[in-house]
Amino acid sequence: MKSYEHIFFDLDHTLWDFEKNSVVTMQAVFNELSLQEKGVHDFDSFYAIYHEINEKLWAKYRSKEISRNELRWKRMYEALTHYKIFNEKLSHEMSDLYLHILPKQRNVFPYAIDVLQYCRDKSYSIHLITNGFELTQYEKIKNAGIDEFINKMITSEQAMSMKPHKEIFEYAFLLTGARSHNSIMIGDSYEADIEGAKTVNMDQVYFNPNKIEHPGTTTFEITCLSEIKNIL
Ligand SMILES: [Mg+2]
Repeated sequence: MKSYEHIFFDLDHTLWDFEKNSVVTMQAVFNELSLQEKGVHDFDSFYAIYHEINEKLWAKYRSKEISRNELRWKRMYEALTHYKIFNEKLSHEMSDLYLHILPKQRNVFPYAIDVLQYCRDKSYSIHLITNGFELTQYEKIKNAGIDEFINKMITSEQAMSMKPHKEIFEYAFLLTGARSHNSIMIGDSYEADIEGAKTVNMDQVYFNPNKIEHPGTTTFEITCLSEIKNIL
């Protein structure tokens, strides 16, 4: 087994429980802006619609078809259109409120803090590589108590490149002094984290709690973060 020195974690859906935090946040937005009175009759179906649209628009954002700003409000706008609501102003209000509340949520995956503690005790340098936005991601890790474990956080905004593109990984190596032979990437996205790490010949741990089928290979695959202790 290789001897790793640098561990690069993904943040959303890997350490920080994005799904759980997002639902709680959207419920708050739903209540605060009285969406039910405006015609969105049911939160659960609204969230399901929003979720699907968000995935679709994130893919467009990753392939540079839409801007960050468009992603942020259009996901709200498109979700509202399912209820025959065509309201740009409300979409912006929802987006602002969502982005304000989301990073304050603190749900992390089981064993996240435990594993970070373990890696720190074993003297690994722990970093983040995330496709999120700089300020948002910083607020998330601070509020969730993750920040104290993190050496460097590399965001796509700062690197001006997104996973799976190799530039963000090269930037991360430059910033941390890490090299592909002594580094490992841990993430939940096969496309962004695993394929991305492969572009710079970095080993990978695919965090796959829902046991999603995938076509390729990974250095390691886990369904619970606690399994990292068997690898590192
Ligand atoms: Mg992720």
